[in-house]
Amino acid sequence: MILILPEKLRRAVSAIFARAGCDEAEADTVARRLVESNLAGHDSHGVVRVPRYLDLMKAGAVVPGRHVKVVIDTASLVVADGQCGFGQVIGGEAMALGIEKARRGGVGVVALRNASHLGRIGEWAEQCAEAGFASVHFVNVVGAGALVAPFGGTDARLSTNPFTCGMPRADGRHVILDFATSKLAEGKVRVALNKGVELPPDVLLDNKGDPTRRPKDLYTDPRGALLPVGDHKGYGISVFCDLLAGLLTGGGCNVPDSPMRGRVINNMLTIVLDPAPCGDLPAAMREMENFIKWICQSPPAAPGQPVMLPGDPERRHRAERSENGVPLDDTTWKEIVEAGASLGIARAEFEQAAA
Ligand code: NAD
Repeated sequence: MILILPEKLRRAVSAIFARAGCDEAEADTVARRLVESNLAGHDSHGVVRVPRYLDLMKAGAVVPGRHVKVVIDTASLVVADGQCGFGQVIGGEAMALGIEKARRGGVGVVALRNASHLGRIGEWAEQCAEAGFASVHFVNVVGAGALVAPFGGTDARLSTNPFTCGMPRADGRHVILDFATSKLAEGKVRVALNKGVELPPDVLLDNKGDPTRRPKDLYTDPRGALLPVGDHKGYGISVFCDLLAGLLTGGGCNVPDSPMRGRVINNMLTIVLDPAPCGDLPAAMREMENFIKWICQSPPAAPGQPVMLPGDPERRHRAERSENGVPLDDTTWKEIVEAGASLGIARAEFEQAAA
């Protein structure tokens, strides 16, 4: 395990993407948002992705230099095509379009299709909340095959389809709910694989449909299957992620014969809402703070561990890791160094970054 300061990690990752064919701004954006996921505590969506993004670039599955292309533009709706560009760039551009609609008309719906992996979806709810807007995001994944069993099934048919909501708070401690509809995000299985640790007992089936704790059982051919979070309820949300993000964007559901096969494509249906026109905003904000105080004052089940709000764990991680550095397991770091070396970046540069 190494600890690396976020700024040094960002520079190292940015250098890799610049060598691989991104321009400076794009390389910086991709690196910044990957490191931000590590800072938020979601290592599954952080720099562990670097080698896989490079593989996608080599295969032409993610294309550098692409920007959001607006396909349909009405008073409240934008249909946008990410053109298989980096999700870290495309996601930010798409949210800016939705925020602008909501600013003008109270609501902005963004139907984004064909973005390469959008990473940590909470990032996009945070962007909306920072601008003062509430948001809801339904996301599906196409092209990368299935990873999650439907409730009552035994093999993988769905993807990890994340669902995310955000509500802005005046002090910037926004309420952000952001989770995969599988019991574990796929990247967390990969992190466990890299760390050589077992999974919890009830999250994964092997390819015979039997429960397993071995992360590698997800990556066999045929694959194992993650289980949906919350049984039939999480499964139902996942189905709606495919219906809303797949059908209403035009990006398609996660079916085996997807034209995006071989890529890792996210489609995202986002609703951005301006809380101001909905009534007396200052009163609503006071009500929200009263409500938050009320729920968070519930006596803790575990002594010393007060009730948290969605978004609190990420804030805590961010504060701690910004100060002390991002922990990376040896395998992840080795893969990043190898990826840099394969692009002609001296290993010594990484050693300096990690020092
Ligand atoms: P998770 O299980 O860690 O849950 C995270 C959510 O739960 C956050 O909103 C967090 O604030 C909240 N939370 C956690 N502990 C809490 C507590 N004690 N009290 C109150 N709230 C708490 O998340 P996950 O399912 O592992 O997802 C990880 C990331 O993976 C997410 O950022 C998601 O967007 C991302 N993801 C992306 C894709 C994609 O295709 N781009 C697919 C799947 C997941």
